[in-house]
Amino acid sequence: MHIGIFGGTFDPPHIGHLVLASEAYHQLELDRLLWVLTPSPPHKPNRHITPLEYRLKMVQAIVGDEPAFELSQVEIDRPPPHYAVDTVEILGEDFPGARLTYLVGEDSLRDLPLWRQAQKLLRLADTLGVGLRPTAAADIPNLQRELPGLREKLRIIEIPLLQISSTDIRRRIRSGLPYRYLLPPAVYEIIQKYRLY
Ligand code: ATP
Ligand code: MG
Repeated sequence: MHIGIFGGTFDPPHIGHLVLASEAYHQLELDRLLWVLTPSPPHKPNRHITPLEYRLKMVQAIVGDEPAFELSQVEIDRPPPHYAVDTVEILGEDFPGARLTYLVGEDSLRDLPLWRQAQKLLRLADTLGVGLRPTAAADIPNLQRELPGLREKLRIIEIPLLQISSTDIRRRIRSGLPYRYLLPPAVYEIIQKYRLY
């Protein structure tokens, strides 16, 4: 069993997330892909984050369309702080014998040395799947110096470049700019229904 772990704030989830998830599923031959919704991301402490119940609805809408995708409550079910290292450790216990691949976009890979116990995270995960984002290219040799062992764990995922981010979508909604087609229709409907952002 090969399980992908895809963590995020998903405020809101968008096409960029789906493309990374589906390419990772295909290219890394995953059996299941867990979307790990983070209630309170440690690296975004001073930002207003949409209440969990709405982000939960949006991620549920996304995973509902694809049998291999699942929402994981592993961070929702424990008090903050929600560190990825703890998540991978818990999932390792929940799925004994499974191969675990932690998924990030290249922009997030750049910050990896700042993550709590990044070295332990690398040890616990069998693979680190990184979706390439040429506009946020990581300096792998430098990261390897900071985190020995990184290179052996790294699997590159080629993804069509989509300059979509939740930050940009929130800004577009606030400013009355087009955003509808940056998200799956079900997420668009939830945003409209609850007047989010
Ligand atoms: P924000 O702008 O609020 O930071 P985001 O769009 O980056 O939101 P996150 O929930 O922070 O979304 O990201 C979850 C994961 O998805 C991260 O690993 C990030 O690198 C990756 N990701 C986000 N947007 C894209 C995209 N357009 N293409 C590929 N990967 C992405
Ligand atoms: Mg981000």
